[in-house]
Amino acid sequence: MQATQEKRRAEDISAVLYPNDATEYGRELRLKQQIFFVSAGLQDSFARFKEQHSDFNEFPSKAVFTMNDTHPTIAVAELMRLLIDTEGLEWDNAWAITCKALAFTNHTVMPEALEKWPVSVMTKLLPRHMEIINKIDTLWKGSLADKVKAQIEAEPKAEAKASKGKGLIEDTEAGEDPVDAALAKYGIICENPWEKGVKLVNMAFMAVIGSKSTNGVAAIHSDIIKHTIFKDFYEIYPEKFQNKTNGVTPRRWLAYCNPGLRELITKTLGSNEWIKHLDQLSGLKQHAGDKELQAQWRAVKQENKERLANYIKANVGVDVPTNAMYDVQIKRIHEYKRQHLNMFSIINRYLEIKAASPEERKKFVPRVCVFGGKAASAYYMAKKMIRLVTAVGEVVNNDAEVGDLLKVIFLPDYNVSLAEVIIPAAEMSHHISTAGTEGSGTSNMKFQMNGCLILGTMDGANVEIAQEIGKENMFVFGVDAEDVPRLREERANFKDYDPRWVKVMDALLSGQFGDADYFQDLVDNVNDMTKSNDWFLLANDFADYLRAQKDADELYKDQDEWTRRSILYTAGSGFFSSDRCIDDYAREIWEVKPVPVPSS
Ligand SMILES: *Cc1c(COP(=O)(O)O)cnc(C)c1O
Repeated sequence: MQATQEKRRAEDISAVLYPNDATEYGRELRLKQQIFFVSAGLQDSFARFKEQHSDFNEFPSKAVFTMNDTHPTIAVAELMRLLIDTEGLEWDNAWAITCKALAFTNHTVMPEALEKWPVSVMTKLLPRHMEIINKIDTLWKGSLADKVKAQIEAEPKAEAKASKGKGLIEDTEAGEDPVDAALAKYGIICENPWEKGVKLVNMAFMAVIGSKSTNGVAAIHSDIIKHTIFKDFYEIYPEKFQNKTNGVTPRRWLAYCNPGLRELITKTLGSNEWIKHLDQLSGLKQHAGDKELQAQWRAVKQENKERLANYIKANVGVDVPTNAMYDVQIKRIHEYKRQHLNMFSIINRYLEIKAASPEERKKFVPRVCVFGGKAASAYYMAKKMIRLVTAVGEVVNNDAEVGDLLKVIFLPDYNVSLAEVIIPAAEMSHHISTAGTEGSGTSNMKFQMNGCLILGTMDGANVEIAQEIGKENMFVFGVDAEDVPRLREERANFKDYDPRWVKVMDALLSGQFGDADYFQDLVDNVNDMTKSNDWFLLANDFADYLRAQKDADELYKDQDEWTRRSILYTAGSGFFSSDRCIDDYAREIWEVKPVPVPSS
């Protein structure tokens, strides 16, 4: 029994990627998984390095590792451990190598994704790593002590007292050394703000300190991290901070998944070289107004819509029209991505259709609204959001008065293969995060390549997409990132509810879409300031969002203009190729040069 138990416990470590972190066991399993994969990767590279080299000072010129998000950041301590304990290097030498061989890419500012491991868990599972992390922390803070002392001394005493709560000594408690107090904000090891006395390891801080560079994944995101989560580190070494705007592979996300468009583009440009040099898509721009091309462009989209309609029929059993606007939101289900904002506008549309006369109904642009996305298995509110889509779908899709004017579909088991079917068929897609919360987004780029118009906020890579294709060609709404902190503070007093918002909330709570109790929490979270504070500012952005939706409806009635824009989207997508992105990493972080691939 014990022999097989051991084996099972070992196999557990790599059985499922990102185990559920709702339980203690799941969390420990995550840490075990992280150190397992990181250590395996580093040890493998050590073995290959040693086949040809013996001096580890050369290691960073042969191998650079990008720590992709905080999950593999234990690499800082593990690389130190390997260099010191197995290769016999001195600390200072090992640290210099580590800081050249590692780089860090941050993907999000959401606090739940910035891992902080309890020191107790770390000590239990990885005692040697904890020892190393403690030493890194001590040396790091020690290196800042002089600077901090000078700052404190430069701060005039009287003024410091007068501006209590503002200066460097704001948090000094009686008896605490003011230098130690001022150094606390730089610490890798920090106090859990919600549990006094519990110490945590801030993995992102360790990654910034123990690496050659830190980058965000879109221009706005790289800028935000410099002034928010890594502010104090940016002040110390601004040169470490970079931007690498994400990209997606045009092979999969255009040439392979959309053969109709691939052929049309190749015919229009006179060659298929664009597949390797995506910038060449800009050659489409001059043809965007060509009525002949527009008609062919629409025919390709129509074929793709029919393919998706068949998929929907086969998988969820709903007949959807193919002459409606295909409006898509597919991405992880998360409150910050605001699938529920989209759903509230769909409910509003439904209520408006119901209230309209048969004559007025003819003016509505028919829509097929498609949702897809996975969620973290322990994410309570995400389940409510998914149920909201299916519950509204059950009512709307079966309402004879509505007919083909509105269909609401949730496609289960979202993954890359499904995205390859949905994206080429989409005419408008949603990228509507609260400004400042989306790192980059990459599906926005996939949709753009496939000539799908974007309804979005000025967040993540949407900002750069707007620069490439012209903001006036997108449906943009919502508050800007710089206004979000202030609006959040003012939420408690928010009174400016749009009357349409109130009707939507009433419809949900009256049970018009089934079990009102089930949706109570979801509504309270955005609508009841005594219970929550609408952190993601749905109520705030709602009216402007409906305005953008209306703009989209109006434009859809002019199919030539819609298609012209669609062509401009594809023409302006060259920058978002992963070839450009990887090239930027290669030159500016990994410092590797391309080598010719021998032809067969
Ligand atoms: C592209 C892609 C994502 C990322 O989508 P965003 O909208 O950028 O968050 C997630 N899941 C799958 C399957 C994808 O193909």
